[in-house]
Amino acid sequence: MNNVNASIITIGDELLIGQTIDTNSAFIAQEFNKIGILIKRRVAVGDVYDDIWQALDEEARNADIIIITGGLGPTADDITKPLLCNYFGGKMVVDQEVLAHVKYLFEVIFRRTGPMLESNLKQAEVPDVCTVLMNQRGTAPGMLFKKDNKVFISLPGVPHEMKGLIKNEVIPFLLKEFTMPVIVHKTAFTAGIGESFLAELLKDFEPTLPSHIKLAYLPNYGMVKLRLSTVGEKKEDIENELVPYFEKMMEIVKEYLVWDKDEGLEAVIGKILLEKGKTMGTAESCTGGYIAHLITTIPGASAYYSGSVVSYSYEAKENILGVKKDTLEKTGAVSKETVIEMAKGAIRTLQVDYVIAVSGIMGPDGGTEDKPVGTVWMAAANKEKVETLKLNLRFDRQRNISTTTANALNFLRKFILANS
Ligand code: AMP
Ligand code: MG
Repeated sequence: MNNVNASIITIGDELLIGQTIDTNSAFIAQEFNKIGILIKRRVAVGDVYDDIWQALDEEARNADIIIITGGLGPTADDITKPLLCNYFGGKMVVDQEVLAHVKYLFEVIFRRTGPMLESNLKQAEVPDVCTVLMNQRGTAPGMLFKKDNKVFISLPGVPHEMKGLIKNEVIPFLLKEFTMPVIVHKTAFTAGIGESFLAELLKDFEPTLPSHIKLAYLPNYGMVKLRLSTVGEKKEDIENELVPYFEKMMEIVKEYLVWDKDEGLEAVIGKILLEKGKTMGTAESCTGGYIAHLITTIPGASAYYSGSVVSYSYEAKENILGVKKDTLEKTGAVSKETVIEMAKGAIRTLQVDYVIAVSGIMGPDGGTEDKPVGTVWMAAANKEKVETLKLNLRFDRQRNISTTTANALNFLRKFILANS
């Protein structure tokens, strides 16, 4: 079966200067990947007529489907729509359904008083050579064109409007129009080991993979995902082929394996605590609530997560968590003794089964000779026991915070598994 290839063109000067991060491409790529469409290329261009035209020509050479986002606003800097009209040789006409929808949005949803602006009404104009894709979430419609057996789809740049159109219009259309091979990924989540060490562990395994099964290493703060991917015709068949390799791989890395899902440590901890019917809390100094934030990104976290004490100052550590003044003065806020007292205090204050406490120096300033920037102490505790871990990080502030958080979650995960 032949691959169905797609190219994504994102349009906007703001993308080129890095003012807006191109999240649209990532979303579209993920959704296309799920239905077996291969992304060939992703291109970003400015709001420049000739550049957009050239990108359309070039991408049409590489792909069966060309997805375009951006440049559909009502302002003069957005030029995609008239350009597409010229590119596909049509003329602009008012689409009555879009016009009714734009009026409905203004009158009923946005509740604007006064007449609509000319520029707003222009949103209902489309090239007469396109199929309109109704945008339930905004005024700019999506547009679908066909030329030389290629499909071109233009979508608004606003991420939530683009997402609605992809899910409700584009994916159903593509599933009808093309027959796609099936892509299967299986991801093993590891923590506490770097990618080069993992590669060393897997150096005899990798060459045993058939050429159509690909292994990818995806490192992030404190963790590495190992993804096996393959393409075929029937999901069942290719899964049956992939699973034994996946299991073998997990066996080899089992010491560092978190689980066999493409989800973060905060999700694993949630699952473990739910299974055991236990609760947890956090006592955070240097991460400033970031651990709490990640834990609460999981829906239903309230079933096991009590809360956090963000104890940034000496006073907060003393007054809320009961860390002794003497301990802080003798050993400092970043010390084994302090995190132990923070953890014990949080168990009492939050009345939970497990706690993770962290204190560290995230930089760029505040380091000393014996406690340089990147020194972190953490303690995991339950009512009976406390264990500590020291990290010596060497990154910038933002990365130190993320890495500390990942390590804290993994340390807590291991502590819960070992002490329950
Ligand atoms: P536009 O359709 O060009 O009027 O885009 C409207 C807004 O959507 C822009 O101001 C950007 O903030 C946002 N946007 C456009 N393209 C992207 C993209 N590729 N990724 C994320 N946001 C985008
Ligand atoms: Mg724009």
